[in-house]
Amino acid sequence: MAAADCQPRAQSVAGGVLVEGETMRHLRITVDQNICVGSTTCINTAQATFALDQSGKSSVVNPQGDLENLVIEAAESCPVGAITVEDAETGEKLFP
Ligand code: SF4
Repeated sequence: MAAADCQPRAQSVAGGVLVEGETMRHLRITVDQNICVGSTTCINTAQATFALDQSGKSSVVNPQGDLENLVIEAAESCPVGAITVEDAETGEKLFP
């Protein structure tokens, strides 16, 4: 295996994480478990970010797990509006 094959695909840079040549913002993603109905829609959309916990509710397992557009799509698809997404550094609301 060539040395280049061993390089990580993501690395931390100022202001975010570099993934395949694009800078990804650090996101603050929250799931309101009081209203989550465990539909798994968000998990099907952003599988590396969300997972069901032992109570059958979605939780964030890795806020850098998926690209921002997938996380926003997951939030938009939640049938009960349980997911909020913000820029972790500026506090800018990205969804809703
Ligand atoms: S899409 Fe919404 S209701 Fe469904 S599991 Fe995710 S947070 Fe819960």
